[in-house]
Amino acid sequence: MQQTLQSEVIVVGSGPGGATVARELARAGKRVLLLERGQDHRPRSYYGTYLGALLYSDRGSLLFTEEGLNIIRPMMVGGATSMYCGCAAPPPAWLKEKFGVNIETEVSETIEELEIEPLPAELRGEASTHVAQAAQALGYNWEPQLKFMKPARAQKFDCGAKCMLGCRCRAKWNAAEYVDQAVAAGCDLRTGALVERVKIEDGHIVGVEGRLNGKPFTAHASKVVLSAGGIGTPRILQSSDGSMFQQAGQGMTMDITVMVYGTIAGRGIGKEPPMTWSWENREEGYMLSTLIDPWLLYPLINALKGPKYALTWPRWKNTLGVMIKLKDDVSGGVFPNGRISKPMTDHDRLRMRAAEEVCRRILIEAGARPETIFTTPLRGTHPSGTVRVGTLVDENLQTETQGLYVCDASVFPEALARPTVLTIIGLGKRLAKNIMSF
Ligand SMILES: Cc1cc2nc3c(=O)[nH]c(=O)nc-3n(C[C@H](O)[C@H](O)[C@H](O)COP(=O)(O)OP(=O)(O)OC[C@H]3O[C@@H](n4cnc5c(N)ncnc54)[C@H](O)[C@@H]3O)c2cc1C
Repeated sequence: MQQTLQSEVIVVGSGPGGATVARELARAGKRVLLLERGQDHRPRSYYGTYLGALLYSDRGSLLFTEEGLNIIRPMMVGGATSMYCGCAAPPPAWLKEKFGVNIETEVSETIEELEIEPLPAELRGEASTHVAQAAQALGYNWEPQLKFMKPARAQKFDCGAKCMLGCRCRAKWNAAEYVDQAVAAGCDLRTGALVERVKIEDGHIVGVEGRLNGKPFTAHASKVVLSAGGIGTPRILQSSDGSMFQQAGQGMTMDITVMVYGTIAGRGIGKEPPMTWSWENREEGYMLSTLIDPWLLYPLINALKGPKYALTWPRWKNTLGVMIKLKDDVSGGVFPNGRISKPMTDHDRLRMRAAEEVCRRILIEAGARPETIFTTPLRGTHPSGTVRVGTLVDENLQTETQGLYVCDASVFPEALARPTVLTIIGLGKRLAKNIMSF
């Protein structure tokens, strides 16, 4: 027997997009069904460990684009905020100016509600602060990074590179907390619920279909919000009937990321909170911050570049790292046969090279030995821009189908090249208000 569920609104995916919409609507008294393909791993002993990261991210964190770019795609309650660095940034001005998406009120409200601010100076890390000061000495105006992090929430604040595996000390806000609040307000959360397609009748959304704990199910509602992330959402649309849905996933952005490492005696950033300082080069389109891979991931990721880079592992505790997040051009895409492609354009390569040179100068200024400096392989932690505003959704995030919305990183019309979560929460709050106004 196929299971059938009924609700007023269905939200697919419990990352920051889905969690926000579900929480706001449930608190306003709407009947909400939240469908998440992953599980809630927070209570498990392995949460926040290397084993955990293998278990709750797609293909054990070994998901690659055709071009070899490593994508980290956490799939669990809370989505990618389970493994994020807890950085916050307001949306770029161009989102409103160029695309008419104004979420200023919702973002300000979130900053206040979650008390988003930089870590206090004494918790920003001595070596990380040293890197920022070296950058400042060269004329780059690095500033303390806004954080979704409250040290006072932790019994023992214990944040380091390892907190990207999942936050065990609880200082870092996670979208799963919004899910908890949605459930407390009456939202029906189903985990193990893989949505495969949306159902449309006469141009109106009527529900979704998929597998619930392995068995086929259907859920009916007159409003559906897809928040399955930059890879999950286009895949659902591609499997559904809709004249424009085959365009979903054509082209994507990733905020292509590398780290530039350099060694210095007695001073590494690995045991310090990640990304406590940052700087944005708006003209060139990239962001720099302090970051290093967690200890055990360091040799694995660098082995992709070559054995000699993996063999720098013993220097991990004496390594300074500067992360580059590039505002990459829309290219490649997520395709129906499972293929993901993210080629760099010549324009991307040129700017990445220029950013690497800046990082090299900063590391040398900070005292790193020039012969130890190298750049890690490419990776992507922000799969996005696959169902872009202005292409497949309007500025209110509605698709061509009445009642079918997208609210996640897929809707970014261009690469953000900055932390995404605050923008996604802002989009979620605004969409919930729009849905409530009907
Ligand atoms: C290592 C790492 C560090 C990061 N650091 C930061 C940071 O410091 N600051 C910041 O702002 N951003 C950061 N990000 C990026 C940020 O976490 C993501 O961009 C953001 O979480 C995307 O939100 P989303 O709602 O689009 O989707 P996601 O968070 O990806 O959530 C989508 C959810 O949908 C579920 N899903 C997928 N397909 C289906 C389906 N078919 N049916 C049902 N459920 C489905 C998934 O399991 C997942 O839980 C980081 C990301 C990573 C991986």
